[in-house]
Amino acid sequence: MFAQASDSDFIAFNISFQNKFQQNQNLQSLSKVSPIGKIWDKHRTNTDKVLHYYAKADEHYFQQYAWRMKICSELLKFQLVLQESEGILKLKLSDAQFCRVRHCPVCQWRRSLMWKARAYKILPQVVTDYPKYRWLFVTLTVKNCQIEELRENLDLILSDN
Ligand SMILES: [Zn+2]
Repeated sequence: MFAQASDSDFIAFNISFQNKFQQNQNLQSLSKVSPIGKIWDKHRTNTDKVLHYYAKADEHYFQQYAWRMKICSELLKFQLVLQESEGILKLKLSDAQFCRVRHCPVCQWRRSLMWKARAYKILPQVVTDYPKYRWLFVTLTVKNCQIEELRENLDLILSDN
């Protein structure tokens, strides 16, 4: 199965098994096949918005970012996988090419999924190793400073003192 993201924020889905070269025929929206398609649509739409900013830039490397983002997740290959716990078939992404541009919304989303999966994988071991520890969510920040004081403030944050 193949799904294709077009230029127009649209992810199409091709159910043709016989000939992958007929991808442009019988296209359906991925979001009509699976609820996950809506998530792809949302992130792909945001990628198109960001790439247009890069494309307008005068610097060549920003235009290269735009090109890479344009072909990011253009072709998505899914496999039907049996979800044994639920007894149903689910679509699982099996192949895709991503641009890996730092500010690409699709790649940022995929990266966050990877870090979430890594955290969930290691959690049982952390709980086993530290059974008496409690979880604490901490956000550390400092008051905004003047731009002229930025280096000094960063040095303070990063110093060992
Ligand atoms: Zn990307």
